[in-house]
Amino acid sequence: MTLTGEAAADWRTLVAHQRPEWPSPAELGDVADRLAASPPLVTPQECDTLTAQLARAAEGKAFLLQGGDCAERFDRLSAQAIHGKLRLLERMAVILTYASAAPVVKVGRMAGQYAKPRSRPTETVDGRTLPVYRGDAVNGIGFSQAERRPDPARLLRMYDASRHTLDVMRAFARGGTDLRQLHQENEDFVARSPAGARYGELAGRIGQVLSSEDACGGDPSRTTELFASHEGLLLDYEAALTRHNPRSGRRYAGSGHMLWIGDRTRQLDGAHIAYFATIDNPIAVKLGPATTPEQALALIDRLDPDRRPGRLTFIVRMRAHRVRYLLPELVEKVTASGAPVVWVCDPMHGNTFEAPSGHKTRRFEDILAEVAGFFEVHEALGTHAGGLHVELTGEDVTECVGGGADLGFDDLHRRYESACDPRLNGGQALDLAFRVAEMFNP
Ligand code: PEP
Ligand code: MN
Repeated sequence: MTLTGEAAADWRTLVAHQRPEWPSPAELGDVADRLAASPPLVTPQECDTLTAQLARAAEGKAFLLQGGDCAERFDRLSAQAIHGKLRLLERMAVILTYASAAPVVKVGRMAGQYAKPRSRPTETVDGRTLPVYRGDAVNGIGFSQAERRPDPARLLRMYDASRHTLDVMRAFARGGTDLRQLHQENEDFVARSPAGARYGELAGRIGQVLSSEDACGGDPSRTTELFASHEGLLLDYEAALTRHNPRSGRRYAGSGHMLWIGDRTRQLDGAHIAYFATIDNPIAVKLGPATTPEQALALIDRLDPDRRPGRLTFIVRMRAHRVRYLLPELVEKVTASGAPVVWVCDPMHGNTFEAPSGHKTRRFEDILAEVAGFFEVHEALGTHAGGLHVELTGEDVTECVGGGADLGFDDLHRRYESACDPRLNGGQALDLAFRVAEMFNP
């Protein structure tokens, strides 16, 4: 049954920032009806399991690793491409588990990450101006009038692509991962990496722990648990996939386990907050540098009035040199209010800039500096650094500069494939995991 009644009507009367200019309300209505008649992609039980694990992260007893593409693409759905990202998350999780001495909760920015908020509505190339690309769920990336026209039929493709990706994720999780194998791959990375000497000791310690578990008869190959998350930007899509259980009275977004509200759509009087208040999934809000403590407290009141541990995550993205002075007041006031939020660091979105070649890029050192600042703030306040939110891919792309292999501006043209923001490649993501591991054990 789809969401009906007051809660559903409520967000529709408010401004939905970043809503595409869908050309035909009738066509959009048809698509919404078809989605409403389709099975949800995730179950309430799975969502509740994730909420429970995030509740542990809020207490410092688990660590969230959330990662994947900035924007997924309909034409990159091979099992191989999806496995590449999952395997990378698993390899990072091995490092972070042993460093944090806590379970790592793995959540893909996957199986639904198809819609992008944009800073400008149009894009100009060689003097020609067209509507901006808003993600495969809305329009095409090709620079033509036809491609850039929002097409509601794309929402059905988003559903199919998400279902396919979740199928691959579920099969991957059931197949399990062999910790020794993952660790061996990390050892190979350390041996090859120009920065490997730095990580050798930590990798060695992880290897020792794994061997002693082996010796104690522990089974290092095990099924693994993976969750799916995306920005809940397109409310027409999200509402059509929301299901209400009349017995429990609870409503869940059926499009993914965890949904977040972007920094551009978190207006307290906006449609996104109103819709998110009606669902019971674990949810997150991105907090940029303009966030005031009063706004953070008001977000908690709107989105987590019952102060349910694990329900609400704040994904902070301040910028490397600002996190140390912007974050403390937010954390202090939220902590003083008693709200059990999970604090997660997104060290990507505050640190984007344009390279001389015109590519959007990020410096590995800035990403690292923002994570370090985030950890230091929590350490100083006695609160918990609950997780990391990153844009990454298992592919050997050249989109961010720096890292162990020290990619430069001149490398960016070699393999820049992101449809939107620059991602860490496999090596840079492992570099980051090792460097964050050092932050747990300074
Ligand atoms: C994103 O996560 O890709 C994004 C647009 O983030 P933010 O809302 O933090 O700018
Ligand atoms: Mn992004």
